[in-house]
Amino acid sequence: MAIDGGPGGPAAGTAAEWPLDLDVGALLESGWRPTPFRQFILKVHSRCNLACDYCYMYEMADQGWRRQPRRMSRPIVERAARRVAEHVRAHGLTGIDVILHGGEPLLAGVEHLRHTLTTLRAELPADVACRTRVQTNGTLLGPAFLRLFEEFDVQVGVSLDGDATGHDRHRRHADDRGSHAEVRAGLQRLTEPRYRHLFDGLLCTIDLRNDPIATYEALLESGPPTVDFHLPYGSWDEPPPGRVPGDPAAPYGEWLVAVFDRWYGAPVQETRVRLFGEIMRLVLGRPSRTEAVGLSPAAMVVVETNGALEQVDTLKSAYEGASATPLHVLRDPFDAALLLPPVAARQIGDRALADQCKTCTVGRICGGGHYPSRYRAGSGFRNPSVFCPDLFRLITHIRQVVARDVVAMRKGGR
Ligand code: SF4
Repeated sequence: MAIDGGPGGPAAGTAAEWPLDLDVGALLESGWRPTPFRQFILKVHSRCNLACDYCYMYEMADQGWRRQPRRMSRPIVERAARRVAEHVRAHGLTGIDVILHGGEPLLAGVEHLRHTLTTLRAELPADVACRTRVQTNGTLLGPAFLRLFEEFDVQVGVSLDGDATGHDRHRRHADDRGSHAEVRAGLQRLTEPRYRHLFDGLLCTIDLRNDPIATYEALLESGPPTVDFHLPYGSWDEPPPGRVPGDPAAPYGEWLVAVFDRWYGAPVQETRVRLFGEIMRLVLGRPSRTEAVGLSPAAMVVVETNGALEQVDTLKSAYEGASATPLHVLRDPFDAALLLPPVAARQIGDRALADQCKTCTVGRICGGGHYPSRYRAGSGFRNPSVFCPDLFRLITHIRQVVARDVVAMRKGGR
């Protein structure tokens, strides 16, 4: 079942890029079966009250947000919730994640989010564990939202890039005011004893100009249970800052190695760092649980504000329409998305890797790197990540440290 071009493809007239020519029919005949979606990302609001200059939504290749309604309408919310329930029943799922996302999801307002959460609760089978999360910039986190999240047990993830200097480099208002003070105030309210259990963690996008240790220690100040470090968005065609495609230097790898050593060397675990934990799991032969590393099938789907089904929206950083599908929640079940070549391509493990990654000594751990960062016009997503030297540096370092400690443990030295 080769599908050409379509809404997910490159501009009309250009050759189909991988994985648009992936033959899903042949995959099925070979015994491959899709993995049901377990993570449902609802884009409840498509605009943001900040104007961060690195945002993949607003500042990068795909400007599709301009065509989106500001807020997900109630009929779309209701149909999306029914579709999630339908998918859960069809596949006998016992646990899922629903993530309220944006834009800035809190711009949807307390009452609209209450309707969304109430609808989800009503539609989902009672015996299904639904972990609901919201990913926010933190500036609007006031008592009314916190009471709502407490009532519905919504876990709150906040974007924070470190100290005031580091954070305000990028995370600014349209009038150029930094947002650090507002985010810290929001975090202070979230970490009051009554609400602290709702704190899911911090998401920090790396800037090489920020000192890695100072950044990490600034993040620790609010006591996050988890820290997610994100490499900035970029591809071979639009390289991220400080990354010269093909250059063997590994500036992001060195930055992360410095944080890893500080984190791993702490006398007590101060927080979980998802990327490091996942690489350590992979080093020890376990499967990954995040799309950033490893070869586990990607099991997330996005419902856009207008009800369109999309792939993970970080693909918007690659090119206009990269995350789009021809499907819509009013018309199509989530199952229809599972057989689209771009979705299947994220679920076929090492069959999706570039030749260089297939023979790489850390290929099973790295998994070729974050999918959007593999994009190159002409060959599509079958390339090593543009961060390849950085990933190799970080993974080999962690592997070395883990191997050293496993040997020491075996000898009874620890
Ligand atoms: S380190 Fe580079 S070559 Fe190895 S798997 Fe990752 S992206 Fe591919």
